[in-house]
Amino acid sequence: MNALHDLRTLRPASIDEAVRALAEEGAQPLAGGTDLLPNLRRGLGTPRVLVDLTAIAALDAISVQADGSLRVGAAATLAALAGQAAVRTGWPAVATAAGLVAGPTHREAATLGGNLCQDTRCVFYNQSEWWRAGNGYCLKLRGDKCHVVVKSDRCYATYHGDVAPALIALDASVEIAGPAGTRTLPVAALFVEDGARRLTLAPGEWLTAIVVPAMNDWRADYAKARVRDAVDFPLAGVAVALRREGDRLAGLRVAITGTNSAPLVVPTEGVTGRAWDTEAAATLAKAVQATANVLSTTVAPVKYRRRMLQALVRRLTDELWTRA
Ligand SMILES: Cc1cc2nc3c(=O)[nH]c(=O)nc-3n(C[C@H](O)[C@H](O)[C@H](O)COP(=O)(O)OP(=O)(O)OC[C@H]3O[C@@H](n4cnc5c(N)ncnc54)[C@H](O)[C@@H]3O)c2cc1C
Ligand code: SF4
Repeated sequence: MNALHDLRTLRPASIDEAVRALAEEGAQPLAGGTDLLPNLRRGLGTPRVLVDLTAIAALDAISVQADGSLRVGAAATLAALAGQAAVRTGWPAVATAAGLVAGPTHREAATLGGNLCQDTRCVFYNQSEWWRAGNGYCLKLRGDKCHVVVKSDRCYATYHGDVAPALIALDASVEIAGPAGTRTLPVAALFVEDGARRLTLAPGEWLTAIVVPAMNDWRADYAKARVRDAVDFPLAGVAVALRREGDRLAGLRVAITGTNSAPLVVPTEGVTGRAWDTEAAATLAKAVQATANVLSTTVAPVKYRRRMLQALVRRLTDELWTRA
């Protein structure tokens, strides 16, 4: 790890102040710093100004709103989210996903906004400066070719965020602030499937809150495969939300992470409106296979990650169908 390059840090006390600070050229939000700071110390990015969002009181609130939805400030920590009784009872998949991120010390600092907006990862990118220089860098930063998909003109680095798929499966949205005002987006629309571009945020835009609708008669869960249960990123992660009416699967939403450059929705049209049985499971498995583009961006073999993904989707859907 290198020393940080020269930069300024600002610590605004209000959302308006943060909007002004982040409108500055070369400014970047800093939340828990658990993703950003290790990356900067490896030379992965050179922001001129870091805008620390953790002093803005309104940004760490977690509350259940009058319409029954859950509102989480973007700087609420994952430990707070995973630990809060209202979240564990009303939105257990969100609490589970937040509680499975990294290790307990990370979760005390790491925030939901930072978790959603974390950088994509790749074995050829998350390396020291000298390692990357020795390998001629790569398309994502300073180089001109991708080592994973050699003839590609885009980066395939993988998105490994745990909480995004749970939020997507629950139809959550993000509130965004920026120089042009505020706007709201479905969580799925925050991401772009390009490992270098990552997010659909315009310059100066940042997340202020995440809103998750009431679950009503939906049931949902999140599961991940990782090398070490104590700390690691998902090699494959799956969120399933399901609504059962008698012997009929009335609604099914599946989202995946750890496979592509963005968390993605798996199309489930061929499965809903019927019973969850072996045939439906085979149809869903094909949809998962068609959606996931697992490449050699991590140390774990591609075949293992594909199989884990299929197994997790099947296991979660079976369990939720039975519980419902
Ligand atoms: C050893 C290790 C293990 C990890 N394991 C996991 C894991 O299992 N699962 C997982 O999901 N992650 C994992 N991470 C990544 C990271 O720790 C988490 O994703 C964490 O939630 C990031 O949140 P943060 O608040 O620390 O973000 P930061 O590091 O502060 O920021 C991350 C990125 O988000 C941007 N950002 C922060 N807040 C906002 C905002 N409000 N609006 C717009 N952009 C914003 C920053 O500019 C930066 O680009 C791991 C990291 C390490 C070092
Ligand atoms: S996928 Fe290719 S371009 Fe992207 S980080 Fe890895 S090697 Fe670099």
